[in-house]
Amino acid sequence: MSFSVAIDGPAAAGKGTISKGVAAHFGFAHLDTGLLYRAVGRRVLDGVEPVAAAQALTAEELEQGDLRTAEIAQAASKVAVIPEVRAALVDFQRAFARRSGGAVLDGRDIGTVICPEADVKLFVTASAEVRAERRFLELSAKGSDVTRDQVLADVRERDARDAERSTAPMKPAEDAVLLDTSELSIDDALATAIDIIRQKRPAA
Ligand code: C5P
Repeated sequence: MSFSVAIDGPAAAGKGTISKGVAAHFGFAHLDTGLLYRAVGRRVLDGVEPVAAAQALTAEELEQGDLRTAEIAQAASKVAVIPEVRAALVDFQRAFARRSGGAVLDGRDIGTVICPEADVKLFVTASAEVRAERRFLELSAKGSDVTRDQVLADVRERDARDAERSTAPMKPAEDAVLLDTSELSIDDALATAIDIIRQKRPAA
């Protein structure tokens, strides 16, 4: 039986941690769809044309090297405004969502475009300041030489680009449950998400 969970929201709101925790709790497969755009962004930084990079993308590329750098994040959000790039990535994401045993996908347009029929939709948010602080700590822990101000500016720039693009802008689906993690610990945010999903899951 397939069961799909769509988790959308802006950068560093906690989507990734919540998605991984939900997948581990219910035994679902997890796809971080941001990695698809990041892998395309990395190719573009290497000089490849964005649509060609998206069309040639392989699952192996998602595992190679560190895609979670600030530079690749910006490149990802730039390629993500191109409709042909998005179109090239749709089938892979939809096939993933249909796999038996359940799947959780996190991104920006999962509940609105990729899986409008998802069984559960969450939109995870937090204030830009809280998100920037989390991302700053994450990047600093990896030895990245960034300042808090730079990270906040980056987060705001990416939010604006993701929310204002005309194809598949980041926004909550009408039937998404909003989860604001600004004041929540990660354990509480995850427990809330698990509760919401449990209520919608048919009894085993
Ligand atoms: O989630 P993450 O920060 O890794 O995503 C990187 C970028 O990829 C986002 O800023 C966004 O522009 C793009 N993205 C998207 N649609 C998704 C997932 C990510 O446009 N479903």
